[in-house]
Amino acid sequence: MATATDETQQSAFIELGAIGTGAIQAGVSQQARLEEFTARVGGGEFHRPTAVTLPCTCIDGRFGASGELVPNAAGGSESLMVADDLTTKRYAQADDGSTCGQFRAMLADLKAAERAVGGHTAADCHGAPSGCGANDKLPAIYAYVAANGDTLREVAISLLAYEIDDETHGLIVKNAAERTEFSGGDELLSALQENDGRVDVLEGEHTEVLAVINRRPGTTLDRDAVRAAFGDEYEAFNVDEWAFLEGAKAVSEPGYDAEAHKKRVAMFYYNLATAGVLCGPGMRVTVLA
Ligand SMILES: [Zn+2]
Repeated sequence: MATATDETQQSAFIELGAIGTGAIQAGVSQQARLEEFTARVGGGEFHRPTAVTLPCTCIDGRFGASGELVPNAAGGSESLMVADDLTTKRYAQADDGSTCGQFRAMLADLKAAERAVGGHTAADCHGAPSGCGANDKLPAIYAYVAANGDTLREVAISLLAYEIDDETHGLIVKNAAERTEFSGGDELLSALQENDGRVDVLEGEHTEVLAVINRRPGTTLDRDAVRAAFGDEYEAFNVDEWAFLEGAKAVSEPGYDAEAHKKRVAMFYYNLATAGVLCGPGMRVTVLA
């Protein structure tokens, strides 16, 4: 990762660099307000309170979400399923072991516990099964975790001071490498709809120029407020990392902190790997502490 500081706006950010193997990043037409956007959005000006404490909508920066502001992780509730699948596989026993079977079992559990669940589709899916990259590209994201585990671990430690023992790290990378069957993104979307999950219909093209890792408890990004200030040309991915532990606990044995800790680490790997698959090397990343 490259480190850069823009002196005029006093905004500190890093760029994904070699971690970013996808296409989404600031383009030529998005330079005019890039420094201002990085400073203001990355500085938390558009983050607002949320009453929900676990991730249940996606990090996607596009507009069109309706309803209350709720915490974000890759794919929404899918982050919790992946965190389980990469660690203790609690939900793999409940069904046929498919990603969709696990997702259904987990959603039913969360619904019974009256926890919020959700995800999204897109107004124009461009032929993609669900319209959510974190969902549709799950095979590529698992392959990314398997191939770049050490890098993910280094970033989690250097950027967020995570404590990751060798056993947890090895388990996550091994489980990512060993999964060869993936349900379709449309199947996971259907599972969400069948379990009364919130499904936002996001609009427009991806114009994200920044990914915010938000560590301010009880807050999330208000994309409508960002749009009011910057229009459709500048968007931000937002990862509510502060909510990861609560999400991990919701899919772990109560009181078993070691399991929840593993799942929090796995959730971060999945979220960072999603950024690695979707975003280019020029994608800026800020940590909102
Ligand atoms: Zn998404």
